[in-house]
Amino acid sequence: MKTIVMKFGGTSVGSPEAIRNLAQIVRTAQAGGDRPAVVVSALSGVTDLLLTAAHAAAEGDASPARTTADTLRDRHHRTLTAVAPGAEAVGQLISDSLDQFVNLCQAISVLGEASPRALDAIASLGERMSAPLVAAALEAEGIPATAINTAEVVLTDSHFLNATPDMDATRERAGARIQPVLDAARVPVLTGFIGADRRGAVTTLGRGGSDYSAAILGVALAADEVWIWTDVNGVMTTDPRIAPDARTIPVLTYREISELAHFGAKVLHPKTIRPVVERGIALWVKNTFEPANPGTRIVLEDDGWVEGGIRAVTAIKAQCVITLEGRGMLGIPGIAARTFAAVARTRTSVSLISQASSEQSICFVVPFSASQTVVAALEDEFRRELAGDDLDGVTASDPVAIITVVGAGMVHTPGVSGRMFSALGNAAVNVVAIAQGGSECGISCVVSALQADDAVRAIHQLIV
Ligand code: ADP
Ligand code: ASP
Ligand code: MG
Repeated sequence: MKTIVMKFGGTSVGSPEAIRNLAQIVRTAQAGGDRPAVVVSALSGVTDLLLTAAHAAAEGDASPARTTADTLRDRHHRTLTAVAPGAEAVGQLISDSLDQFVNLCQAISVLGEASPRALDAIASLGERMSAPLVAAALEAEGIPATAINTAEVVLTDSHFLNATPDMDATRERAGARIQPVLDAARVPVLTGFIGADRRGAVTTLGRGGSDYSAAILGVALAADEVWIWTDVNGVMTTDPRIAPDARTIPVLTYREISELAHFGAKVLHPKTIRPVVERGIALWVKNTFEPANPGTRIVLEDDGWVEGGIRAVTAIKAQCVITLEGRGMLGIPGIAARTFAAVARTRTSVSLISQASSEQSICFVVPFSASQTVVAALEDEFRRELAGDDLDGVTASDPVAIITVVGAGMVHTPGVSGRMFSALGNAAVNVVAIAQGGSECGISCVVSALQADDAVRAIHQLIV
């Protein structure tokens, strides 16, 4: 009997039809003799709506929170009525959660500020509504199920918005709280995305973090397999929204999927992969809407040699190139260290560092939303040098995208980058900067945001 942690993303719990598919998938696993534990995201779009209203409240306007609460109440209640008619306690819990949401937003609007802690309390509500809803749906289908709020299971640090779990404590709590439910042949339905710190304050694991929850809980429960159920047939050669001819990649190595996830393939949260694969837990990405499709299996290493080398191409959009320039730059002691230390103080993560053609500049990529903060931090750090002759200035580019090609076979295949840049040239895409990934299975380049999709499609045609 295998324990399988199955995570269902927003679209996979976003409609009555999807929830019925979920129930069927759980039933099939049980019929095959396996023990599924379900991890759920909020219903599709809910986290965005909650956070948008919270940000409006921080600007002093609490009225969007009330409209959002009405919209969400209506959607959850309609879904609940469709999948679990008569589950009144869950309906009440949903209403209470939304009342709490409105109260929190009102408090934020009075303060005129939304702290990371308050944002997590708000963002967590989506999963705290979806888990009881899905558990009720399973019960209505005759599958015994228990909703569990993982704020009581996943212990994290107090780094709100992007918390890190304490695995030992989480393992212990999962053993005490989830294992008995499994042992009683019930399906635990666990909130993805959330945990709590030592003081009991709710934290989140970062946007898209329900995948990571599945990994954490898979490890904590010593599961045999973790299946990520989403809305496409596994990991594909590129985002099918950009290139509709994208194909499923049946087997992908740990290094390849890590590179893809880090460079924008939203299909799997980057932190999901390592804990699971390292412990020999099988990891699959599958489609809730086409369960018979095998999807993608992630393995530690792939024996299969891949002709042509490139297996997938991905894009991270809304980025910005920051350049620090000056003819006297080489004379400034510790300039690179000071540059990146100043960026780190803003808590911005650098997505890519590029070697410029001359040695008179340092050039790197950060999310566009952080560009003004980063420029200000650098101007502050180098105020003296900027006032003198050594540095000319710090500049932020227009929005750009990082395009990354991934393939473990690329190192053995000559001419991959040549073909990549020819394809971009033929599509009239202008390359702003280039970097080779550290794992030797990726090459990244920076292009204007306006040309991102063209660049992805041009390279995608090279994937054999
Ligand atoms: P979920 O809500 O199930 O977590 P996400 O929206 O987070 O789903 O991730 C799934 C989406 O990821 C797909 O709908 C697809 O548009 C996008 N995506 C981006 N790159 C890829 C890729 N290489 N393969 C598959 N999907 C991708
Ligand atoms: N609901 C959360 C989000 O939208 C987590 C997730 O769906 O993975 O970011
Ligand atoms: Mg996701």
